[in-house]
Amino acid sequence: MMNISAIRADFPQLAREVVGRPIVYFDNAATSLKPTPVLGAMEGYYRTYCANIHRGKHLLSEEASAAYEASRETVAKFINAKSVETIFVRGATEGIGLVAAGLSLKANENVVGTVLEHHSNILPWRGYCAYRGAPLTPDGLPDLEAAEALIDEHTRAITITMCSNVTGVIVEVEPWARMAHQNGLPLLVDAAQCGAHLKLDVEKMDCDFLVLSGHKMFGPTGSGILYGKRERLESLRPPTLGGGTVNRVYADYSFDLRDLPWRLEAGTPDIAAVIGLAAAVEYIEELGLDQIEARTQELSDSLAAHLGNLPGIQPCSPAPGIKRTSLVSFALENEKLSSDYITRLLSDTYGIMVRGGHHCAHPLHEYLKIKSGTVRASLQFYNTEEEIDYFSHALSNVLNLVAVGGRVGI
Ligand code: PMP
Repeated sequence: MMNISAIRADFPQLAREVVGRPIVYFDNAATSLKPTPVLGAMEGYYRTYCANIHRGKHLLSEEASAAYEASRETVAKFINAKSVETIFVRGATEGIGLVAAGLSLKANENVVGTVLEHHSNILPWRGYCAYRGAPLTPDGLPDLEAAEALIDEHTRAITITMCSNVTGVIVEVEPWARMAHQNGLPLLVDAAQCGAHLKLDVEKMDCDFLVLSGHKMFGPTGSGILYGKRERLESLRPPTLGGGTVNRVYADYSFDLRDLPWRLEAGTPDIAAVIGLAAAVEYIEELGLDQIEARTQELSDSLAAHLGNLPGIQPCSPAPGIKRTSLVSFALENEKLSSDYITRLLSDTYGIMVRGGHHCAHPLHEYLKIKSGTVRASLQFYNTEEEIDYFSHALSNVLNLVAVGGRVGI
């Protein structure tokens, strides 16, 4: 059993008050809060051994380099990858962009994804080639057979989100990897929503690339991971070259590329963010992903039950029995109400932070025929039953009072 009040004390921001009471932070799918050990690890770097990595030969540079590479080991082990296959990036978006650029895609080629994808798993590809989105099954899962039918001789890669940031549906990756490989294609998995929720084993998944958002798993903003099978990463053309990516530049300006992982990490990285991300991984491991999953699933069931009883909203979740993460997005039945407006009211009147809008998933909202966006409540283990109660109460008040044009109050 988790000691929730002790855990909450690890997250200083939870003590912040708005409208005279502690905030309710239900926007974890956008970014999670950061625990004290992560803040401490970053501060430790900046206060005591701040120096650039892999360059200087002095003591502080060696300390910083050792901490940076130790962080790589920690993060690689967390997803059952090898260190050379683990590239530090600023987030999932940058990781996908690196692969899209590195594949040297051409305008007449295409990438096959699904309608579930976040803009960050559409636009990096669209910068170079066409994108084809497979539809969903009636259960809300991406349709694998429909995706396979979209492949043609110009398809260069398959991509799938492992967890939708809108519906929360969790996708089993292995069948997608098998399908991609049977068609001679690499599979990129967008696991941005998964790092803080699910045990990830890239070897078992047999994916070719996988991206993670460090900042959604208690790490700092500006941290993320691109995993790739060694031969896949080696075949990418490094989209950015610069300091740290070469062994030697010659007088005629030809150069020898460095080995992985450094050839894909040009320039000075966000060293503090990388060190903070490793501290976040250690924090997750100390709590235990099994415990985290059990706790968030319990909260998620409670949230779904509360919202299921509220009139005036339409949750857009997968069918009952389909595995999903701890978030619920819902459309407002009254088309005159905007999700942004409701979100603002919840924030400024009740101190509840949820997210309104299209969550960087316009094609999915269009596919689901939702015009004015959705409100999304996304939970983490530090959230509580009391917060869920308070939220559903507040939401019910807001919807009732706004519907009759009244004044909203506690
Ligand atoms: N994919 C999904 C499913 C996401 O939810 C997000 C973040 N909202 C991203 C990609 C982009 O991640 P990042 O912010 O780390 O670039």
